[in-house]
Amino acid sequence: MEKIIITIDGWSSCGKSTLAKQLAAQLGYVYIDSGAMYRAITLYFLRNHIDWTDDEKTNEALNHIELHFEYNDKSQQSEMHLNDENVEYMIRDLVVAEKVSEVATIAAVRTFAVAQQQKMGEQKGIVMDGRDIGTTVFPEAELKIFMTADITVRVERRFKEMYQKNPNVTIDEVKNNLEMRDYIDSNREVSPLRRAADAILLDNTNLTMQEQLQFAMDLMAEMKN
Ligand code: C5P
Repeated sequence: MEKIIITIDGWSSCGKSTLAKQLAAQLGYVYIDSGAMYRAITLYFLRNHIDWTDDEKTNEALNHIELHFEYNDKSQQSEMHLNDENVEYMIRDLVVAEKVSEVATIAAVRTFAVAQQQKMGEQKGIVMDGRDIGTTVFPEAELKIFMTADITVRVERRFKEMYQKNPNVTIDEVKNNLEMRDYIDSNREVSPLRRAADAILLDNTNLTMQEQLQFAMDLMAEMKN
């Protein structure tokens, strides 16, 4: 089968990146974490005290940002690099998570990220996850999945992940952050989080990782027929 583009959008922490990585590994595709790009831009803005409510300052700052993914043999993952620095670990911090959705509402920021994402898809054979991948970045993608899961399950999963890095984090902090991001992401003016009309819904509240991969692989098999 010819290589295609697979998009995975959905609410925060419902397992988009897990499924995207599983699928990429299974198909020999490249996995691209579009959220990491918005997180890295936010990290740059925070570190450099950029006032992102000021268009001119934002545009100027974007001129100084170079983003790329680099494969790390040790972690066996593709990791986010900001101006040649590996920031994969730092961008997962709550400090970044608290501001990223605000930064991601800015039209210039989205234009900057989307242009790079579209370039990464030129050769196809990619699985990209995010919020607007099936609607804005690749509206013509061959397979689109929209993921959701119960909020309690999503909070639990994210809490476990964050607690390993920072035992001071609380369930409430994680829950508030997820709810705030979902609200901002689905209510912003530019490319709000939406299920594309042709995206297939996947609710993984009660699915194991193996079952959700099977669900997606079945969709791939149906496409061949
Ligand atoms: O996917 P992740 O949770 O890492 O994304 C972090 C944030 O980046 C999201 O809450 C959203 O505000 C923003 N984002 C976006 N569009 C994407 C991917 C992420 O606005 N395609």
